[in-house]
Amino acid sequence: MGEDPRPGEGDADEVVRGREAVLVRPPWEGVFPGLTTALSTRLHGVSPGNLGLNTGYTVGDSEENVRANRKLFFTAAGMDGKPLATAGQVHGAVVARAEGPGHYDRCDALITSVPGLFLGISVADCLPIVLIDPRRRAVGIVHSGWKGSGGKIVLRALEAMHECFGTRAADVHAYIGPSAGGCCYEVGEDVASIFPEDILLGGGGHLRLNLGAFNHAVLLRAGVPGGQVRLSGHCTIHEADLFHSHRRDGSRSGRMMAVVGFDENRRKVAG
Ligand SMILES: [Zn+2]
Repeated sequence: MGEDPRPGEGDADEVVRGREAVLVRPPWEGVFPGLTTALSTRLHGVSPGNLGLNTGYTVGDSEENVRANRKLFFTAAGMDGKPLATAGQVHGAVVARAEGPGHYDRCDALITSVPGLFLGISVADCLPIVLIDPRRRAVGIVHSGWKGSGGKIVLRALEAMHECFGTRAADVHAYIGPSAGGCCYEVGEDVASIFPEDILLGGGGHLRLNLGAFNHAVLLRAGVPGGQVRLSGHCTIHEADLFHSHRRDGSRSGRMMAVVGFDENRRKVAG
């Protein structure tokens, strides 16, 4: 069994506390010119009660609220009004290449090299992973719960970026965002049996899964340099002051959104 529930804890996320939305992002500010990436939290927002800043249309919230919340988040993230491609999210391991804005059904990861096009996924305990290839200005976003992680969807996304854009693992920077943490995420034997022992914590019928550590290991094994992977120390289940959590709040849980994109103008400025 693993010892450390959150390896990489030194890679603290940046929590940006705006007046209308609070967001979490990797410590990449200013490192990659033109890059925007952020994860929304539950704080502020216009939805009633527990939902707060809910960005999901499927949790019984009104469309009007969700639209308003998304706008608050997009504005705080600095990408309001930008074209956005979102993933259907069926807990599979299929990656889609986005060439324009819209909803891409039946996939759990999106990749693109279209300048200015943003990619978005929805989460509430499942792991959001952002992949960037600064050399080719290509990005990927991955929804990796236990099923997607079991199918190594992050590896599928890296492979797709290689096929489509010529991305090399050595050039990739990755952000493994907040999710249900190894501290809290209890799973049954059926789920535990899919993962190697060093990813599991606890015992005595109370095994906990460390999704972040598993995906971290997959990325390193694929050739992404360890110094280029940022692993969030946040846990969505016990940090109720920041995050929505399906495990904690059940069907009343809101959804957070993770986004990534390279600015369309930056290439001109740089070139
Ligand atoms: Zn926790």
